[in-house]
Amino acid sequence: MKILLNNTSLFKSIRPFNDLGFVPTMGGIHKGHLSLINKSNKLCKKTIVSIFVNPKQFNNKKDLKSYPRNIENDLKILKKSKKVDFVYLPKFKDIFKDKKKSKITLQKKDKILCAKFRKGHFEGVLDVMNELTQIVKPKKIFMGEKDFQQLYLIKKELGKKYKTKIIPCKTIRDRNNIALSSRNFLLNKPNLVIAAKIYEKLVSIKKYIKNKKNIRSFLNLKKKELKNNYKIKIDYLELRNIKNLKISNTNKNSRLFIAYYLNNVRLIDNL
Ligand code: AMP
Repeated sequence: MKILLNNTSLFKSIRPFNDLGFVPTMGGIHKGHLSLINKSNKLCKKTIVSIFVNPKQFNNKKDLKSYPRNIENDLKILKKSKKVDFVYLPKFKDIFKDKKKSKITLQKKDKILCAKFRKGHFEGVLDVMNELTQIVKPKKIFMGEKDFQQLYLIKKELGKKYKTKIIPCKTIRDRNNIALSSRNFLLNKPNLVIAAKIYEKLVSIKKYIKNKKNIRSFLNLKKKELKNNYKIKIDYLELRNIKNLKISNTNKNSRLFIAYYLNNVRLIDNL
């Protein structure tokens, strides 16, 4: 596993390879990331993982400051997996020319879910993915369905510009079904118990949606219940079509999307 600390060493090392699988991350490596890496390792000749906490995608300074960082441990886990050929650890200047806001804009119809509640977030994500794709020039990029809206927007944006294929990967959960996330490192045990209970509730809500005539008002009611029962703040609880992310009136081709705050940590999930 070769560690690449700047673009010069990146270009030198990856130049011979035209079948690169790329797994972009912000570190805090967990089994969710490893599942993407495994898939890349199976489908591509070489696998490159990047670790870069992209300041442009944080709409909240506190969130950026508290984002879990543990590069030593990340490298240990990646090395142990024996599935990674290159780890790219760029500095800000390797990726961006300046600190200006992204020129990428979202269409009005895409300003939903997290885009509505985290202003500028996806513009920053699309910006970094655009730059990373130009730098790494991978054949395939592996991304998690846990961040479904991110996957959807990146597919749309990069699909217009590059030959690179975006490969969706299933959400990996812990034994209590909590979707793995680097942010889970910021949760204590009681928080994790609540997160597991919320997952159970979401499963049952999704099940009962089938019989409901007015899904929107049913979900509003469930949102209030979750809020009161678990003392959490909820940004959204919505059923949306997986093809176009429009509000859906049926379970078919749809997922239930949630974003909520537990102990000031923002968690998202979809099922
Ligand atoms: P992050 O480091 O959180 O930016 O995530 C890097 C990549 O890993 C993204 O494509 C995420 O969607 C993916 N990912 C994060 N958590 C999970 C998970 N629990 N299961 C599958 N993929 C995940």
